Amino acid sequence: MADEEKKEGSPVKLKKTSKRYENYEVSGTTLKKKNKSCPKCGPGVFLANHKDRVYCGNCKYVEMNDSEEKEVKEEKSSKEVKEEKK
Ligand SMILES: [Zn+2]
Repeated sequence: MADEEKKEGSPVKLKKTSKRYENYEVSGTTLKKKNKSCPKCGPGVFLANHKDRVYCGNCKYVEMNDSEEKEVKEEKSSKEVKEEKK
């Protein structure tokens, strides 16, 4: 049994594709952007959604969004009660 060795110059590195297309949503003939685009980098560069902030991987721009998630406060208050009981 002779193993067939394929000698390639360098091993192919799998590059992570930026799933830019996932940030778009096609509805009919209009294209909707799901995520915010970066104010610094301009349209085309999307901000990554995190729990309480959005983040641009291109220029490290961070934008806190504390307006929408008020439910988090309720969780925090319940935790505080537990800590008080200690
Ligand atoms: Zn940016």
